[in-house]
Amino acid sequence: MKAEILCVGTELLLGDIVNTNAQYLSKRLADLGISVYHQSVVGDNSERLKKEFEESFNRADIVITTGGLGPTPDDLTKETGAEYFNKEMVLHEDTLSKLKLHFINTSKGELKGNNIKQAYFPKDSLVLPNDYGTAPGCAIEENGKLLIVLPGPPREMKPMFENSVVPLLKKYSSEILQSKVLRICGIGEGIMAEQISDIINNSTNPTVAPYAKDWEVTLRITAKSDTEENAKKLIIPVENEIRSRLGTHIYGEGETSLEAVLAELLIKNNLTISTAESCTGGLIASKLVDYPGVSSVFMEGAVTYSNDAKIKRLGVKEETLEIFGAVSEETAKEMAEGIAKTSETNIGLSTTGIAGPGGGTSEKPVGLVYIGLYINGITKVKKCEFTGSREMIRRRTTITALDWVRRELLEQYK
Ligand code: ATP
Repeated sequence: MKAEILCVGTELLLGDIVNTNAQYLSKRLADLGISVYHQSVVGDNSERLKKEFEESFNRADIVITTGGLGPTPDDLTKETGAEYFNKEMVLHEDTLSKLKLHFINTSKGELKGNNIKQAYFPKDSLVLPNDYGTAPGCAIEENGKLLIVLPGPPREMKPMFENSVVPLLKKYSSEILQSKVLRICGIGEGIMAEQISDIINNSTNPTVAPYAKDWEVTLRITAKSDTEENAKKLIIPVENEIRSRLGTHIYGEGETSLEAVLAELLIKNNLTISTAESCTGGLIASKLVDYPGVSSVFMEGAVTYSNDAKIKRLGVKEETLEIFGAVSEETAKEMAEGIAKTSETNIGLSTTGIAGPGGGTSEKPVGLVYIGLYINGITKVKKCEFTGSREMIRRRTTITALDWVRRELLEQYK
């Protein structure tokens, strides 16, 4: 099987950006045992792109494109691919619903105009989900020719390639591929990459690829061999080495989530939890409720946003708020203790912070967050200084809080 890489974008031709997508894809295709004899770059021009498709498919069975999937009229890759294969563009309802939701969630208003274009795909194509952006990719197979259309931004393209394209390409390779995903939290991507940089850079079989999302990092270890069993065997020593270096930063593997791992720990140890949230406004409770079996351990989630609510609902002392303020170690402590006491749970988790964009001072800047954790009679408070938008600070607080409970439980209930 021969593949070609075709990167679309005038920016690439002008030298404004470096074609790292081609490098990444070439390397990964080589790992998969698929030969690449040509890479091409073409500007945002439908005629020239179509010509490029013709030439590439004359030489290869698989063509992988990146770029030109955005909402603007010069984003033409899917449309030109459809033209090349003589397919009409059809609406993909699932993508349309996701786009609508994205527009509502990001306060961009109603989905309209050019943006709807991102929900149209060549008829009969397989839509490849984009977990990191709004433009899904797609794959079209016709007469033994496979066109794979991926987004331009590397942070969207790489996970789409790993999650959707690698499984698709498996049937074009004589070798068996086996992957294992490790999920990591509580350590930045940069620091993690430093700790295992030799493994990431020097491993060829298996390969180790990190991806960061929402304050979490995913490591995918991929091995190839003649059988599934042999590929799995190749993964074991590399996984063990990574585990020995990253320890409890690894919270799980495969299809799991931080809230699932935490909920399972709570259930296993017969512990109940309640939450008192200020700056996270219910995000922690909402995350916990994402896990279907959580009802036996999650008792109550209170959103105590005002000082009044902190006093009335949680029993935070008026003088604590007066002397130290709502965003303080003392308030976080009393919030965690108050919710655990009134909900009669083993664990009380609280958050109070300044999510911004306004409200910060030099003493208490935007991003300052205190997380309170009461477990069986002992209360600890963690001070965090996050950066980013209001949404990011709230999300980071949520992940950090859940991860902290997980780590404490691992420590205390070995
Ligand atoms: P968007 O929906 O963001 O418009 P797109 O799929 O249309 O994405 P482009 O508009 O072509 O992609 O490129 C978006 C950005 O992605 C570029 O500005 C650049 O930062 C990055 N990018 C695109 N192509 C490449 C490439 N080949 N190598 C590295 N980065 C790239």
